[in-house]
Amino acid sequence: MNTTTILQEILIKRSQQKKRTSPLNYKERLFVLTKSMLTYYEGRAEKKYRKGSVDISRIKCVEVVKSDGIIPCQNKYPFQVVYDANTLYIFAPSAQSRDQWVRNLKEGVMRFPSPMPEKSARRPPPPIPPVEENGNEEEEIVVAMYDFEPTEHHDLRLEKGEEYTVIEKNDIHWWKARDKYGKQGYIPSNYVTGKKSNNLDQYEWYSRNLNRSKAEQLLRTEDKEGGFVVRDSSQPGLYTVSLYTKFGGEGSSGIRHYHIKETLTSPKQYYLAEKHLFNSIPEIIEYHKHNAAGLVTRLRYPVTPKKTTAPTTAGFSYEKWEINPSELTFMRELGSGLFGVVRLGKWRAQYKVAIKAIREGAMYEEDFIEEAKVMMKLTHPKLVQLYGVCTQQRPIYIVTEFMEHGCLLNYLRQKRGVLSKDVLLTMCQDVCEGMEYLERNSFIHRDLAARNCLVSDSGVVKVSDFGMTRYVLDDQYTSSSGAKFPVKWCPPEVFNYSRFSSKSDVWSFGVLMWEVFTEGKMPFEKSSNYEVVTMVSQGHRLYRPKLACKQVYEIMMMCWQEKPEGRPTFEDLLHAIIDIAEGEDAF
Ligand code: ADP
Repeated sequence: MNTTTILQEILIKRSQQKKRTSPLNYKERLFVLTKSMLTYYEGRAEKKYRKGSVDISRIKCVEVVKSDGIIPCQNKYPFQVVYDANTLYIFAPSAQSRDQWVRNLKEGVMRFPSPMPEKSARRPPPPIPPVEENGNEEEEIVVAMYDFEPTEHHDLRLEKGEEYTVIEKNDIHWWKARDKYGKQGYIPSNYVTGKKSNNLDQYEWYSRNLNRSKAEQLLRTEDKEGGFVVRDSSQPGLYTVSLYTKFGGEGSSGIRHYHIKETLTSPKQYYLAEKHLFNSIPEIIEYHKHNAAGLVTRLRYPVTPKKTTAPTTAGFSYEKWEINPSELTFMRELGSGLFGVVRLGKWRAQYKVAIKAIREGAMYEEDFIEEAKVMMKLTHPKLVQLYGVCTQQRPIYIVTEFMEHGCLLNYLRQKRGVLSKDVLLTMCQDVCEGMEYLERNSFIHRDLAARNCLVSDSGVVKVSDFGMTRYVLDDQYTSSSGAKFPVKWCPPEVFNYSRFSSKSDVWSFGVLMWEVFTEGKMPFEKSSNYEVVTMVSQGHRLYRPKLACKQVYEIMMMCWQEKPEGRPTFEDLLHAIIDIAEGEDAF
């Protein structure tokens, strides 16, 4: 441990217990920063008592706080240090002092790589928020991309297209904001986008995770002349415009894909058809809405798959994970699993949810309840969202996002012969996106398989039950020699040494792809668990499913490299899948 002092100064700290601003809550403390620790003491350097400390590796975010009123202490330059689920509010005596602390703390945080997957499996850090680089006093204005109806009094209503001022970002999923009438409250951070940012999410014509085949499906369904959508290109950082015309002449599809090209100049300029250069993508779209200028038709009609469906939020409200069971109504049974029966239900008579009632003796409940707060912060369009828990009664309930089409394995079996290869690949891409998010957050699934994915009403596949095997009480399921242990989805290092990692999830993902492309067959159908261990250890692998082309099978085989370090990451896999989905180069 390095104990050399990097910075040392008397600053003012706000009490962490009391949220209200009162002069009594502000204490002078001697702050000392070393490479590994931020410590604060009562008293002066000569005679000091340690009052608290924060491990630099646990810090998630350091940033200047934009003050929204009078600062009730003599130091007027606040900044905040967010670690675990806590925040230190610190007030510096001058802008220069504050900049120095913020800069040094950020540098300190950067020195710590993300924790090792194995170590962090039990306590994954929530995603690290982007840290603002400019420490100026300017307030951040955001624009709502979706309507948001508050569920608690401390939330703030969002109206799509309206602007809001962000006041506080203590929780990365729930920011405190102010609307144009001066009303303040918490908003889901994934419902807004920076006004000044060139984030395209605010435009209805942009769809982030739409691949070529999904875009074509969408445009054909809408069947509108000049229907178009802007999506991420298979080349990272670039965009493609997919455009539909009924009168396009040659070819049957009537769909064209145009890359938005960039000039090499600085600043960059963009164009779709030569000679028409623009400073930004929205400007190009605006121009081509009125002028075909080289395109098969002008961009007449933005098509979007997300018109009405807002993304899920991390829980129903800020710091709300305990759900009042009297606010739940129970409807039909959806299925049952290791932990108990799952039912469709409604929360506050309005929001459809899935409610899992945990059977007595099925789960390490205390451990799970502790972890649930962390799991709620995992929020991604391809993960089944955990909304909250009811832990004050038995059985305890786990409340999650409801998925109309149920489990992926059954869905595949029911739809045998119906789903096209493109759709099958898109399903794999969905799962890969969810898994890439888990990988980025050092969260290991441990039981990825088609039976643990669910399908939404629009056919989107989402990953479910992540990390849950850690709370299963049944030995037969958790011990690698147990009869119910999912050996057929496991790499050698797991069935031999229970060594789980994101790379063992990658192996399971390969098996899941195989399940998808066999439309729900059982892997190693005729072999027992014991035989599979022997076969896989000797290098035997699952065969190529008929519906899987060579490139798709190559991806599976990459996932089944014997050594974990030889396997790709989910990020690599995502690029490989998108490349296949895109087919030949776009126009
Ligand atoms: P367990 O975790 O106890 O093994 P599962 O999560 O596998 O239980 O759920 C059992 C079944 O209930 C699933 O196969 C699926 O059919 C149904 N189910 C579970 N969660 C949902 C959900 N969120 N939406 C719709 N159906 C669900």
